[in-house]
Amino acid sequence: MTDIKDEEVLISCDGLVKIFKTEDVEVMALQGLDLEIKKGELMSVIGKSGSGKSTLMNIIGGLEKPSAGKILVNGICLSDMTEKEMVSYRKKTVGFVWQKSGRNLLPYLSSLENVESAMSFMGIKKKEKRKRALDLLEMVGMSHKKDSYPSQMSGGEQQRVAIAVALANEPDILLADEPTGAVDTKTSNMIQDLFRYLNKELGITIIIVTHDIKLAAKVDRVVMISDGKISTEKIMKAQYKERIESLSDEELFLDAHEEYSVLDKAGRVQLNDDMLEAAGIDSNKVKIKVEDGKVIITAENS
Ligand code: ADP
Ligand code: MG
Repeated sequence: MTDIKDEEVLISCDGLVKIFKTEDVEVMALQGLDLEIKKGELMSVIGKSGSGKSTLMNIIGGLEKPSAGKILVNGICLSDMTEKEMVSYRKKTVGFVWQKSGRNLLPYLSSLENVESAMSFMGIKKKEKRKRALDLLEMVGMSHKKDSYPSQMSGGEQQRVAIAVALANEPDILLADEPTGAVDTKTSNMIQDLFRYLNKELGITIIIVTHDIKLAAKVDRVVMISDGKISTEKIMKAQYKERIESLSDEELFLDAHEEYSVLDKAGRVQLNDDMLEAAGIDSNKVKIKVEDGKVIITAENS
């Protein structure tokens, strides 16, 4: 079913490290993160607060530079880009939707003007701009609020307009950092459905950071970041992908994905607190043996 184009790697993160230095402390926000994202993927990133989700998004978006490691987008290493190429990358290759709608929209412009202003350097005529902006507002279901200002719309409506703004330059990648963090569950559901629709209609690669595991379940792949590394990946089972529209949230949440732990290049996997507790592992040494083709990890004193 999937054609070859779907399988093309768009973003490749290789051993990403990000260290933030403040006064006298150093924080290692990313600790050698490896991740490949295919063209046209719809995926979400989950993880506890402070685990490095926003740092990863900012690096993919070209807003932060990694302290070590490499990120390739369309085969081009972001650190090799000149400042000028970087500006163009941020404007044309990626679109951002932030949690705070104040960061997405200009308060003194209407919805239509907000979308149009995001196209200013596309080099297209005013009339064409207007048409494109109207089309985008239609696509996100906000045509009826084209003349409204942000303060005249609900949080969810503002986020829909923000998505139209993010799509204005026809980016290859849409990055959304907790886009539904400040709206109610129903609105959040609507926005998540909108992402799926856009992914399908436009074929755009979409990465959504969310803390809502239920919503995260509606995408093809969910990666979990723990302490600056990808620890597990959940991939939607093929038979569910075809029926996604007819499934309840409960079905999607409970059974639609296959969960994998990520084995890094050095052969390491992360065991989470629940696994450690269930196995009675409470020291920093474990026993590992291979039996019947299985790797078994047990407590030191077992
Ligand atoms: P998340 O989005 O998962 O909550 P972040 O990527 O924002 O996590 O942050 C990861 C870690 O890096 C946290 O400990 C955070 O405090 C730290 N951090 C993020 N940005 C900065 C910054 N600009 N300066 C200093 N520390 C930062
Ligand atoms: Mg964050």
